[in-house]
Amino acid sequence: MSLPDPFRELARRFPADRFLTDRTELFVYECDGLPVHRQPPAAVVLCETRDEVVACVKWCAANEVPFVPRGAGTGLSGGATPVRGCLLLDLNRMRAIRKIDARSRYAVVEPGLINVRLTEAAKPHRLMYAPDPSSQTACTLGGNIAENSGGPHCLKYGVTIDHVLGLEVVLPDGEVVRLGGPIADHPDHDLVQLFVGAEGTFGVVTEITLRLTPDPPEVRTFLAIFDSMAKACRTVTEITRSGIVPVALEILDRRTIEAVEASVNRAGYPTNAAAVLLVELDGFAAGMDEEERAIVAMARANDPIELRSARDPAERVALWKGRKGAFGAMGRVDTDLYVLDGVVPRTALEETLEKVYEIADRYRVKVSNVFHAGDGNLHPNISYDGRDADVTARVLAAGEEMLRACVAAGGSISGEHGIGLEKRDFMPLLFGEGDLALMTGIRDAIDPEGIANPGKGFPDRRAKRRKARA
Ligand SMILES: Cc1cc2nc3c(=O)[nH]c(=O)nc-3n(C[C@H](O)[C@H](O)[C@H](O)COP(=O)(O)OP(=O)(O)OC[C@H]3O[C@@H](n4cnc5c(N)ncnc54)[C@H](O)[C@@H]3O)c2cc1C
Repeated sequence: MSLPDPFRELARRFPADRFLTDRTELFVYECDGLPVHRQPPAAVVLCETRDEVVACVKWCAANEVPFVPRGAGTGLSGGATPVRGCLLLDLNRMRAIRKIDARSRYAVVEPGLINVRLTEAAKPHRLMYAPDPSSQTACTLGGNIAENSGGPHCLKYGVTIDHVLGLEVVLPDGEVVRLGGPIADHPDHDLVQLFVGAEGTFGVVTEITLRLTPDPPEVRTFLAIFDSMAKACRTVTEITRSGIVPVALEILDRRTIEAVEASVNRAGYPTNAAAVLLVELDGFAAGMDEEERAIVAMARANDPIELRSARDPAERVALWKGRKGAFGAMGRVDTDLYVLDGVVPRTALEETLEKVYEIADRYRVKVSNVFHAGDGNLHPNISYDGRDADVTARVLAAGEEMLRACVAAGGSISGEHGIGLEKRDFMPLLFGEGDLALMTGIRDAIDPEGIANPGKGFPDRRAKRRKARA
């Protein structure tokens, strides 16, 4: 492919196999896990060091070229989807664990490290990295920081932002700043909290200092299988109202159960199951018997078809099998999957789900739900054939209505997947003009030229300005 002149000058600074411009190679990068938006980048650099990131970002700033940071591309809101003419910075090769300080319980890592690798490395020290997105065997910690990711076990431990102690960031003009660090209570403004969840719009994270959490000595996992979603939701509300904080409270609906049972991840759920509730407790053994008994009693009171509990790690894996295999199972339903992400108060789970099914029926799309019930974090999953423009239009319209239903129930348009391209136009559903102006004002202060992942989170108001200057 012929490159615009300034790109050729940058390309000369990298080995050819780390500066990609071939159309077929760029094809891989044209979207993330949200298949409805696609745009190939002008070029991709496979960065190996912080200094290479700095060189690329400085070049982008000098040439007014937008850049898009990318981890594993598992994002579900279009955050890593390229913008026209951009340089895409692939950070997967920056995956070193620079330090594990077991005594002070923190780790220093590069952004391309895959989430689960940190827990594997911390395990010999009887520590773990608590936030565990369901994509944790693929997604990078840099992506987790940018999206402020959650996961099934975040109900008790909190999401990514609760575990980030420090960041090294290459700002949009190429300057390198270090924010926070392993020591708590810095006297300055807490800019780490500002940068977590910024979706790559404040620059590129090149080093991360993360809190490590003690590996819990005791874990209890059990399933309650119900013939109605109402009973499962009621049990969740009762558990959370009781003050017991399980580490995970996950629900699969009937259509997910059907998909799981038709797949290799078959978990042996009864044919009349309408909802599977997975509960996990962890911590010290003392007091756990009482908590388990109390939860089982709450589930029993809602008349389950079946209760299953794990007695050893192998049985625990078996109970998680259906939940962990749910997304893979949906891959069989159709060629594309649109994974939505909305939040509602836990007490509104049941009525919002009913609304979601009603919307899906009205738009004639196939929806299934597997979700972090303890957080009220819904994931309506729409299976569809993206090659059909009419179907895709109906999927998008249904998705928008589902998110509006979450807001109407007192919730929000994102629990953990971020705003990205997908939901930037829905921000006014939640925020007034003043709120949005404050947020975009902060972005403008950090990135006055608007070159860092533009158009994500908010509409790209500065694209016009760049175009006018060009
Ligand atoms: C099957 C499946 C299950 C999932 N389950 C969960 C879940 O349970 N919880 C959850 O929260 N999410 C989940 N996700 C969504 C996704 O995995 C997360 O958002 C994850 O954090 C994305 O990481 P990534 O490395 O793939 O980032 P990418 O998709 O590559 O990028 C995501 C965003 O981060 C930015 N970015 C990446 N690296 C950097 C960096 N170093 N500096 C600055 N910005 C950067 C990108 O520009 C983009 O805006 C799931 C996705 C899939 C496909």
